[in-house]
Amino acid sequence: MNGAGADPGWAGGRTSDRAECVLCPNPSPMTLDGTNTWLLAEPGSDEVVVVDPGPLDEAHLAHVLDRVASTGRRVALTLLTHGHADHAESADRFHELTGAPVRAVGRGHDDLRAGESLRVGGLEVLVVPTPGHTSDSVSFVLPADNTLLTGDTVLGRGTTVVAWPDGSLEAYLESLHRIEALTRAGGVTTLSPGHGPFVADAAATVTFYLRHRAERLEQVRAAVAGGARTAHAVVEQVYADVPRSVWPAAELSVQAQLEYLREHP
Ligand SMILES: [Zn+2]
Repeated sequence: MNGAGADPGWAGGRTSDRAECVLCPNPSPMTLDGTNTWLLAEPGSDEVVVVDPGPLDEAHLAHVLDRVASTGRRVALTLLTHGHADHAESADRFHELTGAPVRAVGRGHDDLRAGESLRVGGLEVLVVPTPGHTSDSVSFVLPADNTLLTGDTVLGRGTTVVAWPDGSLEAYLESLHRIEALTRAGGVTTLSPGHGPFVADAAATVTFYLRHRAERLEQVRAAVAGGARTAHAVVEQVYADVPRSVWPAAELSVQAQLEYLREHP
């Protein structure tokens, strides 16, 4: 959760020879500058992988297809980082427009397998399950760029929400440790998030996320010990520093933390 508002410095664009972000015009306290739709292609290849076509916004989809066509390419595969509407609502429509298969975890789409290597026009994409924000959250490594496409698991600014009850803090912490291990091994040095700017230092950001989670958990533990009886009461104490517009999401994160504390007293 972030509440920091839009960052005029982030408007999408090319982040490497292989990756370009087309920013969807759906900014909000929860989506930051908007949803990042990522276009991935090996230089010299005419096949593009699109990650998260976004909400059902015809103008955005047309813009994405314009970007693909302007480089003489076509969409060969669409991937979803998770099923939230701001990432995936347009998946069926995008499939109609492109004919390209849509792959994700669950929800009637082709299931992606942990560790699976996808190859599209010479581009390699590795599947790393990162449940926690939602149970179906998955990230993608682009080994040639040492970047990880994180969806809503790690954002480009601020922190994210554990969308309880589908999301789980235990799973989320395991996912952060999985990403930390990738940064330690050197396979991932940067993050290409689902919202907010490209992250140049993946390791530092994951360390910040883990520390933030531990701090929040201690704050929730203290609030409960101090007599807070409901998730809302905990939010009023612990999330006083974030705008009220994101309190409903904070309440879900608090529910996830209360569940975690019940299981790990
Ligand atoms: Zn989400």
